[in-house]
Amino acid sequence: MSSVDKAQTSERGYFGEFGGQFVPEQLEGVLNTFADFYESIKDDPSFQEELQYYLRDYVGRPSPLYLAERLTKHLGGAKIYLKREDLNHTGSHKINNVLGQALLAKRMGVERVIAETGAGQHGVATATACTLMEMDCTIYMGEEDCRRQALNVFRMQLLGAKVIPVTRGTRTLKDAVDEALEDLVQSYESTYYMLGSAVGPHPYPTIVRDFQSVIGREAREQILEKEGRLPDYLMACVGGGSNAIGLFAPFYGDESVAMVGVEPGGTGEASGEHAAPISFGQPAIIHGYRCYTVLDENGATSRTHSVAAGLDYPGVGPEHSFYHASGRAQYVAASDQDALEAFQLLSKLEGISPALESAHAVAHAMKMAPSLDQDKIIVINLSGRGDKDANQVYDMLNG
Ligand SMILES: *Cc1c(COP(=O)(O)O)cnc(C)c1O
Repeated sequence: MSSVDKAQTSERGYFGEFGGQFVPEQLEGVLNTFADFYESIKDDPSFQEELQYYLRDYVGRPSPLYLAERLTKHLGGAKIYLKREDLNHTGSHKINNVLGQALLAKRMGVERVIAETGAGQHGVATATACTLMEMDCTIYMGEEDCRRQALNVFRMQLLGAKVIPVTRGTRTLKDAVDEALEDLVQSYESTYYMLGSAVGPHPYPTIVRDFQSVIGREAREQILEKEGRLPDYLMACVGGGSNAIGLFAPFYGDESVAMVGVEPGGTGEASGEHAAPISFGQPAIIHGYRCYTVLDENGATSRTHSVAAGLDYPGVGPEHSFYHASGRAQYVAASDQDALEAFQLLSKLEGISPALESAHAVAHAMKMAPSLDQDKIIVINLSGRGDKDANQVYDMLNG
């Protein structure tokens, strides 16, 4: 894996023209110390061994690679496999990353973790990892989001985390990020900032990619064992891009393997109707790094929309931005309606309700598979389970 890393990350955390570290000087120092520490520990056998232990005994890895026979038959084309990240403890791929970062923080000798959360999914995952590692946990969450996601606030508190409602600005995710960063600048000697996706300033995109790459490494081994060859297509939904880059990166050098990232197309292409920066946006700097972003008419970061809260973000990981610009991967958009239909079809045919996020990837496979030969193979990353979305889907179908 380390040769792959070197090919894809330059020293300053650039992926082509994307990524980097656009932060105040003081924060730059903190991030660089942290980047150096990560480099020194990541290949340490005792660190890797400890991580493997938790991934196996706590998360339940390896996650299965499951042949979706009924879905395949229904679509009548390519063979479809599902990488079952929905079966992980806590119900999504997010746990792979937070456990890795929590172990890292512990090795740094830090006892306190902070994080931001929007809908609450990353907050719950962070609180889980902190409980397990006996670390103090503070989650910043916009007051408006706290109100909308009251149950997730309760879940974080049950797990022993302090949830701080953020009352500035629009009282949502962006304001929570700002407040968490201010905390970090004050407290970096004792505090670790846990980021939830493959976004943000260097070294986060690299660290998150590395911890999520367990998905692609397993999938590669599993498909070779089941089919004796590599797949023709990988498909994954892209919010910040962590589950997708986790699946894609270990196949980077396999030229026969096509990669398709599926962005949330929402209700249309106008600004405010989607959260699809590669499909409908342009390069700019956001949250301390350069990537494709969704901009409004004035060139400011646009409001975004997606039926899936976990995909509702105006930026995208720098490595995906690079994969797109260099042509290594293709990015498409699936609409809210496509995702809703995929959610229902996979439930009905396979007895698996995907997260609305993951349903975007399933939706694109549903579109593509029928036109492909039956000897082609698609691997879809099923990033999470849909239990959390059942209420919302009920309301949409009956509203
Ligand atoms: C958070 C989340 C996502 C989006 O995040 P990425 O970093 O793009 O993977 C996708 N699926 C599920 C189930 C999530 O919880």
